[in-house]
Amino acid sequence: MIWGDKRYRSLSYEFKKIFGQKVMKLSLDGGFTCPNRDGTIGREGCIFCSEVGSGEFASSRYLSIPEQIQRQKKLLSNKWASGKYIAYFQNFTNTYSSCKDLERKYREALSCQDIIGLAIATRPDCLPQDVLNLLEELNRETFLWIELGLQTIHQGTAQLIRRGYDLACYEMAIAELKKRSIKVVTHLIFGLPGESHEDILDSVRFAANTDTWGVKFHLLYIQQDTDIYRLYTESPFHILTRDEYISLVTDSIELLPPDMVIHRLTGDGKRELLVAPRWSLDKLRVLSGIDMELKRRDSYQGIMF
Ligand code: SF4
Repeated sequence: MIWGDKRYRSLSYEFKKIFGQKVMKLSLDGGFTCPNRDGTIGREGCIFCSEVGSGEFASSRYLSIPEQIQRQKKLLSNKWASGKYIAYFQNFTNTYSSCKDLERKYREALSCQDIIGLAIATRPDCLPQDVLNLLEELNRETFLWIELGLQTIHQGTAQLIRRGYDLACYEMAIAELKKRSIKVVTHLIFGLPGESHEDILDSVRFAANTDTWGVKFHLLYIQQDTDIYRLYTESPFHILTRDEYISLVTDSIELLPPDMVIHRLTGDGKRELLVAPRWSLDKLRVLSGIDMELKRRDSYQGIMF
């Protein structure tokens, strides 16, 4: 089974199918914080969370949403003269504010030229009824999806990384979103301390069976401005090699249902802060390694679902 020139259903394939053209995401910082940072759940945040709340490539939070959109479009203008965009609220927890504030920011983004949809990254414990109602309304008006950082299904790892909610909370959130026909994308991190190949695949199997729209695979990387850097320097743990990562991702692609959209296959650390694994900087090599491994196995997404 082939999706365009890939053996998996990529987001760019899906966008072309839905919109008939290439669509790009613009990373935005809505100026929110996170309950895992402001003391509501914790003060230290998830162990891998960076100073900018896991959104390294967004514009400054001190700019208005339209200004950020303008800037992001300009950054892309070398490769991408004109086109359509999704406004992606990425940094920190993007449903963690009053409904009024959220609606204002989302609608500001939607009112900008060439914005055809919204992607909102958040936590499953930050979806109260009024926010769910707002999302339901927006979902009727535009192309919307919600991204949830699950990372792992294993409670021991979830505690180690200080995620701050349990699996039941995640399950409840996706049930609420699905009830409202809102698309959900689950984030998973590969290579968390103490997790085996099979442990990681268990998380993938879980995500594969949620009957949701999409998934994002991240590679755990050690960045200097995170607590995981301190943990790693005090008691180093195994960092996945490129070959291990390629093998894991290929196994994972095989486990996903064929209609699940793969939004990301590897991580994106900041070059100047990245400690390990340095091989992750060569993203093209990782992606072509995955393509080659799928071809070598004569395999494709869903073959093991
Ligand atoms: S939920 Fe997101 S923003 Fe909050 S601490 Fe964790 S990674 Fe950072």
